[in-house]
Amino acid sequence: MDEKHDLIANFDLKIICDFFRQLDRQGPGSESETLKALGFIKGLPINAKIADIGCGTGGQTITLAKNISGKITAVDLFPGMIEYLNNRVKHCGFENRVSGLIASMDSLPFSKNEFDLIWAEGSIYHIGFERGLSEWRKFLKQNGFIAVTEVTWLTNNRPNKIENYWNENYPEINTVSHKIKQMEQAGYIPLATFVLPESCWIDNFYKPMADHLKDFIKQQNYSKSAQQFVIRQKEEIAYYEQYKKYFGYVFYIGQKYE
Ligand code: SAH
Repeated sequence: MDEKHDLIANFDLKIICDFFRQLDRQGPGSESETLKALGFIKGLPINAKIADIGCGTGGQTITLAKNISGKITAVDLFPGMIEYLNNRVKHCGFENRVSGLIASMDSLPFSKNEFDLIWAEGSIYHIGFERGLSEWRKFLKQNGFIAVTEVTWLTNNRPNKIENYWNENYPEINTVSHKIKQMEQAGYIPLATFVLPESCWIDNFYKPMADHLKDFIKQQNYSKSAQQFVIRQKEEIAYYEQYKKYFGYVFYIGQKYE
């Protein structure tokens, strides 16, 4: 990449981070779906150790803290996200049980067999589903659990336009059955999978996003990068609206079996 493009890419990353850190969630999800996934995880010890990877501003972290005992390490690459998360954690009175950590999911500073549960909502795609499942496995204790959401084809066939869009953005997108097989191959017993309802996308993610886009472009003084960012986000929303029956986010819950 030449210097000019590199600078643009870095600037874009800053825009992306500045935008998303101002939202309560950075991906589709909801408190009730987090709780539904948690319902498949039985027998966590009282002093469980939990890692929430790619936690963002902590939408799901707070739900986890409210509903399970033990200690949560919430990890994100971006300091701005962790700053917001730490304030939220303090506001909810969980600072003794939840700590934010700035680290990258592909080089986590964790020990082998450290965690009872690894959580990752809307984030494993940054490392890739297969790679994340297999690299993070070593951090789990024997019989430890993993719960992640991943963008997934809901049907076996779909229009070329949406197929191309996702292949450009995340070529690892695949069907539920394929992802379950990858989970087995990575060394987990698949315990459950379920599709997130549309409300997780529209009400909890795209609506707040669309509302915020208007202010954001002003905040950024109508810069070219901000305008491009807004166009891209609007395009993403339009693709979802048009093709939502063909793809969605799916929760995958698994257990390390040895
Ligand atoms: N779990 C949150 C955020 C999902 S968005 C939610 O569902 O609302 C994905 C998050 O992954 C973002 O906060 C982003 O900053 C973070 N991220 C991106 N690359 C990362 C990396 N390499 N390591 C850790 N976190 C990363």
